[in-house]
Amino acid sequence: MARAIVIILDGLRRDLVSSETTPNLVRFAEEATRFTAHRSVFPSATRVVSAAFATGCHPARNGLCGNTVALMADGRLGLHDVGKPEFFPTKRRLTGVTLERPTMAERLADRGGAVVFNNVSPGAAYAHDPDGFGTVYHRAGSRGPGLRAVAKPLDIALGIDGDRAMADRFVAEAVAGEAALAVLWLSEPDTTQHAVPLGSPDHLATLKAADAIAGRVIAAVSERDEDTLLVVGSDHGHQTVGNVIDIDAFLVAEGLKTKGADDIVVAPNGTGALIYVHPDRAESIPAVERALRGTPWVGAVFSGDRLAEVGQAPNAGLAIAVSMAASDATNAFGVPGVSVAARPAAGKADRLGCGQHGGLGRFEQSPVLMIRGRGFSAGEERTDATSIVDLAPTILTHLGVPHADLDGRDLHAPLELHGEQRS
Ligand SMILES: [Zn+2]
Repeated sequence: MARAIVIILDGLRRDLVSSETTPNLVRFAEEATRFTAHRSVFPSATRVVSAAFATGCHPARNGLCGNTVALMADGRLGLHDVGKPEFFPTKRRLTGVTLERPTMAERLADRGGAVVFNNVSPGAAYAHDPDGFGTVYHRAGSRGPGLRAVAKPLDIALGIDGDRAMADRFVAEAVAGEAALAVLWLSEPDTTQHAVPLGSPDHLATLKAADAIAGRVIAAVSERDEDTLLVVGSDHGHQTVGNVIDIDAFLVAEGLKTKGADDIVVAPNGTGALIYVHPDRAESIPAVERALRGTPWVGAVFSGDRLAEVGQAPNAGLAIAVSMAASDATNAFGVPGVSVAARPAAGKADRLGCGQHGGLGRFEQSPVLMIRGRGFSAGEERTDATSIVDLAPTILTHLGVPHADLDGRDLHAPLELHGEQRS
């Protein structure tokens, strides 16, 4: 039976895969094809990546534009934290839909189903299947088809111990089960990378521990002699936060918006940001864009049709996408990649000196991807450009599920070459 199993080590940078830090992943690379030009989406943030992974489409088409977004309600823009468990029901109420493209869970509902074990934010977990076609296990609430509560919820904590306990259940229930698609999404090394400097002893210890969990699950998958496509990777990397900028305060200081007004709303997304402008104020967009371009802390700005370059679209008030300035400078532990971060909403940590992501910086856009299974040669290195959105078409092709009109492409290509080698 064709199956697909996906293991994601949240936030793992491709350049931090090495025989010292991640020996299990290095060993797996010998059995798999590894993709050395793999990229995240924009913003390079977990909830955005989760929706792009699940739908095979960028935010412009799946409708989930950020980790933090603005939604229009009663003619006014309001900020929403996508990580909260109530985000998707709220979005459905305000906009009529959760995601605007079908998820793999929906496409697989009558073909063996999808099961997701997830230890990141509730919103990121539910982005895999917001309407309840398969089963999502999460510490904030586990639910099966029809969004009904499951008999045995996932009672774990964020971090490496919870990841380990979750992986135990994943092996016993999902790997040993029959679901067409099973996804294990660890909270590490991302959780620790946000709290300590990249390359520090605490970070490296967590990296090793997450690698050991991945190694154990890979071994369990290998024990089952099946036509399994095994995808091991990450959703984005991290940059070190070198500076924090309050974009909303900047716009107020520049006289572009009134303090506290909701006609221009900044949605901070780590080292990226989305700026929403009420349609009644659309004439102010060029001035806001000009002001942002004039600062040293902005790396790239996209608006109008150019939003398509980062997989976004000028819909529902989204006017400008910002990737904060990034450099290849190193931190105190010699780890390269330093970025400016957008100051997060009140009450959230700014991560100064620690890891962050969300923008287009080199290292946050260098996640890991390795695929083992039919059509993928052991030990091969692929240097063609690949993206998170390519995983859904690749998985659906392996499972023999028809799909069309996705943003991503099937990574079995060049199919002819692999087909000849197989026959
Ligand atoms: Zn992540």
